[in-house]
Amino acid sequence: MTVQLTVLKEEQASETRVAASPETVKKLKAMGVSVTVEAGAGAKSGFEDSHFKQAGASVTKAISASLKKADVVVSVRAPAAAKIKLMKPDALVIGQMNPYQNSAGVKAMAAQKVQAMSMELMPRITRAQSMDVLSSQSNLAGYKAVLDATAEYNRALPMMMTAAGTVPAARVFVMGAGVAGLQAIATAKRLGAIVSATDVRAAAAEQVESLGGTFVMVEADAGDSGETAGGYAKEMSADYQKRQAALVAEHIAKQDIVICTALIPGRPAPELVTRKMVESMKPGSVIVDLAVEQGGNCKLSKSGKVVRHKGVALVGHQNVPGRLSGNASELYARNILNFIDAFFDKEKKQLALDWEDEIVQGIGLTRAGEIVHEALKPARPVATKKAPAKPAAKSKAPTRKPAVAKKPAAKKPTPRKRATPKGAK
Ligand code: NAD
Repeated sequence: MTVQLTVLKEEQASETRVAASPETVKKLKAMGVSVTVEAGAGAKSGFEDSHFKQAGASVTKAISASLKKADVVVSVRAPAAAKIKLMKPDALVIGQMNPYQNSAGVKAMAAQKVQAMSMELMPRITRAQSMDVLSSQSNLAGYKAVLDATAEYNRALPMMMTAAGTVPAARVFVMGAGVAGLQAIATAKRLGAIVSATDVRAAAAEQVESLGGTFVMVEADAGDSGETAGGYAKEMSADYQKRQAALVAEHIAKQDIVICTALIPGRPAPELVTRKMVESMKPGSVIVDLAVEQGGNCKLSKSGKVVRHKGVALVGHQNVPGRLSGNASELYARNILNFIDAFFDKEKKQLALDWEDEIVQGIGLTRAGEIVHEALKPARPVATKKAPAKPAAKSKAPTRKPAVAKKPAAKKPTPRKRATPKGAK
């Protein structure tokens, strides 16, 4: 039987992206997959129904009929409850399910016995790089954040020497040098700004400098690289945070544009820019808070709004990748295609999902009526019976180095784990 794949139209008015592009439809067709697109699904990304038809998809307004027979359903956000109810058991449902804030949706997908995959949980391993939606979308967000800043800033970014006088280059400070931050640095540099950046991960220094930025960082706690074994930032000690705040306060007062991108997985965004720091900036300065949907790096920014505080503009757009919906959809659609392709038997032209695989285990939420993701499984009840005393055993929980408040005697650069992400230059 031919594998049937359905592309959903997003329900949220603010979601501009779509989970397939004419290009990925063509590739799915070449693999032997039959594709049905919900009418109007690509309209906000610049893909008309006719483009999908030309690529070989059927386009339908009657999505219920298509969902009832779909082996694979793809979407950007978690599908609505009414759509989940129409899916057949074992259907592979792929999207950004936001599982930690969407327990009702996860439960509904478990109840429907579908195999739900949450793309934003993709493990950061080499094999999964082409499926990494956080990278593909953050990269675009970092670029757009700089353009959003320039739209609010009433001055130019590059230095210009004119007969009427010199226009000084703008100073741009990027907080958080992950995927979005590095692209923001590269974009601001291209526009001629004087760029500096900070991060808690010592390994970010070389990447920032390779893009022409100056790295601004306080001395780390003894032996602390600022990152987890997975390469993510960790919450720093109170002493580190105090020292970081003092350094940032001094630096920020001289900046024209601040781009905030700092995040800690599974935690609210760290507050890095205080009211006092905002008030220390010159009127006309701009802060773009890409972390606004996770609570914000600046408490004065407002999700979904551009607000002003004492002459400083605070830009808090939501769904920033969706502000470049054409590229964001193309890249997201490719991430999904690459995932399907990795678990597809080319000869039999059938899905070959392997639940023993690290990638499937990393993103798989529900299967055969159960919530199967490790991080979402209900906690086991604590045993009430008193167990006999045992010698201390090694914990299996992921280890987290205790934060040490002491300063190191001398700071040595930490060896870099990973080169600059693709596309940042
Ligand atoms: P992220 O979106 O979780 O966070 C953005 C940045 O904010 C990170 O660089 C983080 O260190 C920084 N940050 C957190 N708290 C901070 C604070 N208090 N002050 C300053 N900065 C702070 O991160 P990301 O963009 O997803 O990248 C995280 C890491 O994963 C990076 O090392 C990146 O290179 C790596 N990565 C690896 C792969 C892969 O191997 N497949 C793919 C993408 C990213």
